[in-house]
Amino acid sequence: MPSDFNRKSSGINEILDLKRRQISDEQRKKLENNAAEIFSALGLDLNTPGTIDTPRRFIQALFEATEGYDGDPKLVKVFDTECKGGPDCRLSQIIEGPIHFFSLCEHHALPFFGTAYVGYIAHEHIIGISKLTRLVRIFTKRFAVQERIGQQIANSLSALLQPHGVALLLEARHMCVAMRGPREISPITRTTFWRGEFDTNPFLRQEFLAACKNKN
Ligand SMILES: [Zn+2]
Ligand SMILES: [Zn+2]
Repeated sequence: MPSDFNRKSSGINEILDLKRRQISDEQRKKLENNAAEIFSALGLDLNTPGTIDTPRRFIQALFEATEGYDGDPKLVKVFDTECKGGPDCRLSQIIEGPIHFFSLCEHHALPFFGTAYVGYIAHEHIIGISKLTRLVRIFTKRFAVQERIGQQIANSLSALLQPHGVALLLEARHMCVAMRGPREISPITRTTFWRGEFDTNPFLRQEFLAACKNKN
């Protein structure tokens, strides 16, 4: 039986940490003018056919890249399962990935991007597999740091499903590292997050990580 996500989980907006973004035309024009000033100061000639619209496109692109703040109306259903606890409760993992994501580092406003693997062990509720991708996108299409994205995905999945456990692996390349600073081109930053049974059971962690490596 599908249940209403909004009823099931008290305060969906809080769990997903949504913002109400409403920008008036006037405000948007101001943002575009500010962007134009920055681009000009950096040396970009905004008086060519190719660049005259760049400030407008830039602001629009930023809004699209951060639309995770607006939420996702399609992230709506959780389903009940048969699991009611006790000896019949099977600790089998549901693992989804690689889920590709793009995010903006909140320190430099430059992109970082990579893949997420999300795993959980269902108890009384499950969620549609595609919704795991939507959940990752909600938290990655924002200004973020990799560590917090992981916490948010793991915590929200725990809050929504109350599963036996949640596992998460994030692998990303940070443009603020590659394009500036130490200019290391290829390092990949990996973070793992464990909740519930994964916290205490090393075999479950191994199983999860082995499944993540098996990318084909
Ligand atoms: Zn159970
Ligand atoms: Zn950065």
